[in-house]
Amino acid sequence: MMKAAPLPAIILFMLSLVLNLWFAGAPDWRWVPAAAGGWYIADLLSGLTHMYMDYRPCTPGVGLDEMFHYSGSRESAEYLALRDRVLPRISPFERLVYDFKNHHPRPEALGRRSFMVQIGSTILLVSLPFSILLNLLCLMLALPGWLIAGAVVLTIGGTLAQYFHGTLHRPDNPWIVRTMRRIGLLMTPEAHALHHASLRRDFATNTGWSNPLVNAVFRVATRRGWLTEAGLEPR
Ligand SMILES: [Zn+2]
Ligand SMILES: [Zn+2]
Repeated sequence: MMKAAPLPAIILFMLSLVLNLWFAGAPDWRWVPAAAGGWYIADLLSGLTHMYMDYRPCTPGVGLDEMFHYSGSRESAEYLALRDRVLPRISPFERLVYDFKNHHPRPEALGRRSFMVQIGSTILLVSLPFSILLNLLCLMLALPGWLIAGAVVLTIGGTLAQYFHGTLHRPDNPWIVRTMRRIGLLMTPEAHALHHASLRRDFATNTGWSNPLVNAVFRVATRRGWLTEAGLEPR
């Protein structure tokens, strides 16, 4: 399951991001296309990650299928005991894989999670290491300011990907999310519904700008048998 990141990791991440912005120096016009590029790549990464996690098979025979298809209340003692028996048998990464599959029959559950839980795993596994790596690169090389600024925008877009996905599954969102949707910087729930209708298209969940490209990758990956239907549900 997704977890909130510990506070020191979040503080370290913020400091590292601010340091990168400081390395970027004074803004100029090149920051605008660089920021748009960073926002596009964040969307692309949200789509490729989502596609992989949806179709990567779960470990068979550990009871994940029983959890997935459990028909009673998910608050019942029986379900909680099942969950406590099954989850310790799989790695933290596999729990994330399960989370993606579990999202299809129960999409609202993601929207109900707290902000910190939605972004915790991404910070620990991806954003914090990436941001620190960028700090080190800035120390060693004279990177252009626009490139660093684009990388910071990419980091922010990538970090918030699961939060943005969650906003597509809840009605009450802050004004900034509604405004960004209106001007096309975030996708709409209607556009994301196309993914849930077939699970075979439109995996990107930030802006959806990269969906034509991700859909082309999906077609190649399924034609060659790299991704198969069998991976969509635990068995
Ligand atoms: Zn999906
Ligand atoms: Zn969704």
